Amino acid sequence: MGLGRIFAVTCLLLGNPVWLRGEIKPWQEARSPHFRVITNGSARSGVHVAREFELIRALFAAQFPGYELDSPAPLLILAPRDEDTARMLLPDAWRVVGNQVAGLYRHGQEKQYALIRLDAVGSDLWNKNPYGVVYHEYVHSLLHRNLHWIPLWLDEGIAEFYQYTRFEGDRMYLGAPPKNTGLTDFLNTHSTLPIEEFIEKHRSVSADSTDTSMFYAHAWALTHFLVFGPGMGQGEKLKHFFNDLQKGKPQKAAFVETFGSFEQMDKDFQRYLLRFTFTSAELPSPTGLEEKSFESRTMTQAETEAELAGFEIWSRKWELARGWAQAAAEHDPKLGLAQEDLGYVFLNEGQADKASQCFAKAVDLDGKLYLAQFAKTMLMPEAQPGVTDRAKVKEELLKITASKADFAAAYVQMAKIYVEQGDLPKGLTMSMKAEQLAPFLSGYHILSGEILRRMGDPTDAAIYARYVAERWNGSDHDEAVELLERVPANYRPPTIASENTEANIHRVEGTVQETACQGAAFSITLDSGGKTRTFKGTRVQTGFADTLWYGDHFTRCFYLKGLRAVVQYREGTETKEGDLVRVGFRDDLREHPTAENRAMVK
Ligand SMILES: [Zn+2]
Repeated sequence: MGLGRIFAVTCLLLGNPVWLRGEIKPWQEARSPHFRVITNGSARSGVHVAREFELIRALFAAQFPGYELDSPAPLLILAPRDEDTARMLLPDAWRVVGNQVAGLYRHGQEKQYALIRLDAVGSDLWNKNPYGVVYHEYVHSLLHRNLHWIPLWLDEGIAEFYQYTRFEGDRMYLGAPPKNTGLTDFLNTHSTLPIEEFIEKHRSVSADSTDTSMFYAHAWALTHFLVFGPGMGQGEKLKHFFNDLQKGKPQKAAFVETFGSFEQMDKDFQRYLLRFTFTSAELPSPTGLEEKSFESRTMTQAETEAELAGFEIWSRKWELARGWAQAAAEHDPKLGLAQEDLGYVFLNEGQADKASQCFAKAVDLDGKLYLAQFAKTMLMPEAQPGVTDRAKVKEELLKITASKADFAAAYVQMAKIYVEQGDLPKGLTMSMKAEQLAPFLSGYHILSGEILRRMGDPTDAAIYARYVAERWNGSDHDEAVELLERVPANYRPPTIASENTEANIHRVEGTVQETACQGAAFSITLDSGGKTRTFKGTRVQTGFADTLWYGDHFTRCFYLKGLRAVVQYREGTETKEGDLVRVGFRDDLREHPTAENRAMVK
C-alpha cells in the first residue's frame, strides 16, 4: 500500500451515535446475476440499479474479451433513497461538500462498496450522474483485477471513457462526451501538455484543482483519440499498446512503436481536439438482462444493520460501524455477519482478544464467512511471529482457500509460512497464485521477487523488483528498491533511486517498539541500531506492506511491534512535534527452518 493512502485514524469515538436517533427499518435486497443491491427505496428501484451495473459489466466484457470480470472482493451496492439516508451513511461528506455526493465507490481488497443515491438518478438538478462516478470506479476495479500495471493516464482515461457511456433503450453510446460540457470546454480553453510528457505523469491530483481537472479531461480526450482517431482501428491499436505494457515493455517505447512518433501524435491529437464533435460508437445494448428475472426480498432489521456496519468499516467510520454492528448483534444474536463486523471494530480498537472471540463466533454461526475465518486464524497464537509450529495455521488457511479459492491474502500467508520453513518452491507457487488473483498489488510482486532471490535467481528477482520500482510510488517503490539493493550489483539497473529524497528530509529505519495515536497526532518509537528513538507528527503519511495480513484493516495504532519501519522526518527539529513526515511498515520474510520444519520439507 502506498504512502499516498493517508488514513484518518482516530482512536476516539466522537459525535452522536446514529443508532440512538431511532431504529432503522429493514431494507430491500435485489440480486441480479452478478450484483447485489440493498436499498431503503422500493425493491423495484434496487432491481433497476442492479441492471445498470449489469449493463456496464456486459459492455466491458464485450470490449475486453478474456478479462476476468468478477473480483474476489465482493461488491455490495447501496442505494439510499434520499438525501437524509445518504447523509446518515456519509455524515462527513456532508460536512465537506454539502449534499452533492451522488455516488461513490470504496475499493477494498476484501470487500468493495458502491453507493448510488436514488434521488440523484436521472435528476436534472444534478450536474453529475451518480452512475458516472460509480462506473468510473467500477472500471478501475475491473482493470486492476486483470492488469499488473497500467499508466495513470490510461487508467483514468479508460475509466473516464466508460464513465460517460449512455444506455438509451436498446442502444448504448460508447465514447459519448459527457452531457454537461465541462470537460470539452476545459480542453478548448486550456493547452495540453505534449503527449510524451503527459503519459509519464505519476499523479493526477495536485494542489491546483485546475491541474487536476485538466489531467482528467486530457486523459479522457487522449484515450478517446486513441480509440476513435484516424487510423486507430476503433481501439485495435490501443489494445496492442495495452498488451505491450502487460508484457513489461517500457511505456514510451511501446507508445512510439504502436502509434508513431510523439511529434506526429501531438499534431494529430491537436487536430482531433479542434473537431466540433467527438465520435461515439452506437452499439446494441446487451440483451438477456430482464429486470423481472432478478430476485428481491426484504432483509431483516439485523441484516440491514450488519450490512451498513460493513459499509462503515470499509469507510473507516468507526463510530458508525460500532453502532450498527452493536445494533445488529442485539437484534439478532445469531447473525454471523454482525459478529464479523464487531470483530473488525474491536480489532481497530486494539482489542485483539475480543476481536478474535467475535470472529470465532461469526464462523460458528455462519460457515460461509471466510473473512472472519481468516481474521480468526491470523489472530491465533500459532500465527504470531516467532512460533515455529505453523501446522494449525496452515490447516486453517487451506480450509479458507477450499471455500474461497480466489482469496489472495490466504495464499500470501501460506507463502510466508513455506518460506519460513525453508520450502521456497512451494512458497513461490503460493505467492504467484496471489499475484495472479490480485495483480495490482505491488507487494505481492515484491514477495515473489524476494523468494526468487532466495532461490538463487537474482536475474528474475531484479526483474520483479525493477518492474515495481519503475512504476509505483511511495513505500511500494521503496520496498522494491530495497529488494534491488539485496541482489548483487551487476543485476541492478544503474539509476533507480529511492523516492522522497527532498532536502531536509532524513531517513531512519529500525524495529518498531511502539506506536501511539491521539487524534491526528501519531508517534512511533524505534529501536534503531541499539538506540531508542521516538518520532512524532500530525500529518504523517503511512504506507505498509501488502503482505501484512490485516490489509484493509490496517491501523497504525496497534499490532506493529517488531516490524521494521522506515521513518522520514524533517531535519533539525527531530524532538519537536510535527517532524515525522512519512513512515513505511515493512513485512520482512523470516526464515528459520528448524529440525522439525526441515523434516517436513521434502
Ligand atoms: Zn479514476
